[in-house]
Amino acid sequence: MSDAHRIVAVIPLAWGEEAMLATLGAALQVSASAGCGFDVLLLGGSAQPPSLQWESMAGAKTVQLVAHEALGDAQNLPAMATATGQTLREQAGQRVLLVPPGADGEELAGHLAAQLGAQLLGRCNQLRWDGAGWLAERAGWGGRKTLELRLAAPLGVACLRLGKAQAVAGAVTVEPQVMALQHSLPPAMAIEQSQSEQRLAPVQGARLVVSGGRGVNEQGFALLEELASRLDAALGGSLPAVDAGLVPVARQVGISGNFVSADIYLAVGISGTPQHLAGIGSETCILAVNKDPAADIFKVANVGVVAEWEELLPALLEQLPA
Ligand SMILES: Cc1cc2nc3c(=O)[nH]c(=O)nc-3n(C[C@H](O)[C@H](O)[C@H](O)COP(=O)(O)OP(=O)(O)OC[C@H]3O[C@@H](n4cnc5c(N)ncnc54)[C@H](O)[C@@H]3O)c2cc1C
Repeated sequence: MSDAHRIVAVIPLAWGEEAMLATLGAALQVSASAGCGFDVLLLGGSAQPPSLQWESMAGAKTVQLVAHEALGDAQNLPAMATATGQTLREQAGQRVLLVPPGADGEELAGHLAAQLGAQLLGRCNQLRWDGAGWLAERAGWGGRKTLELRLAAPLGVACLRLGKAQAVAGAVTVEPQVMALQHSLPPAMAIEQSQSEQRLAPVQGARLVVSGGRGVNEQGFALLEELASRLDAALGGSLPAVDAGLVPVARQVGISGNFVSADIYLAVGISGTPQHLAGIGSETCILAVNKDPAADIFKVANVGVVAEWEELLPALLEQLPA
């Protein structure tokens, strides 16, 4: 194994286990295919190692827990970037920092790039080593083109979603090396919070998402909202549904919207374009309702129902308790 190229998974513990496993999943896969080692940098609010699935870090060359009170705040991205910079040591060759995929991870990637003078590779689909350097693959023009970026700096920062790391049965439990930072870290940026008028949960992080597309009108979205409320699900929509004002932009699913890694995604009146499907996790079970039996969504759906929502949704609501 060469040390000329390396992966460092940077994981804020305040973001939860799902973010941790997604980052480790990407680090494990990239380092295996690139034939390099990977290190894990955990950022936590306390020097006491938390109870985690430590087995999922088996394979990491080093696991370091960097502790500081400010790192316990999930919103304090400047502190996370500063702490990471203080911890990384000079090293020959090219390193890529992998941060958790998703909107927060992409923001943290920006802070890290600015703070460390690193090259921002952004939301990537793949990351590989070609012998001369790291190459990142990104989707462009709504997934119609693939862009290849060559890392031209000693340090790059990327967000990559390749599935979750699995805890290896019987693997040795990893002992993290704890480093408590004594000096002050920057405060969190001031965020003004206001009460959302949305009564349903946001799509990000939801276990069940009920989503509508261009094939659904205002009455249909009222039924979808009722269904979501009865199932305690989040309401989502495709880009055309957002454009038509049927669902807020914060609920758009797809390449230019949110990524959902729900257990179940109910897609009603959605054709299944690559731009929409790019927003749905590979492990999510898709239930599709579409009046066109040839709709592309049926090629990826786990369960498909050829029906018009006008008939199906009222019948479904009738069967569900209020
Ligand atoms: C740069 C770029 C970024 C993009 N980003 C996104 C994105 O983030 N998210 C996104 O969704 N799109 C995105 N798009 C748009 C994408 O290309 C598609 O236009 C869009 O996904 C199609 O949405 P849809 O499936 O709702 O509509 P359509 O493709 O029009 O499909 C509507 C479906 O409804 C079905 N239908 C109609 N009536 C009924 C009925 N009564 N009952 C049941 N089914 C019915 C039809 O059979 C059809 O399959 C992006 C495009 C570009 C260029």
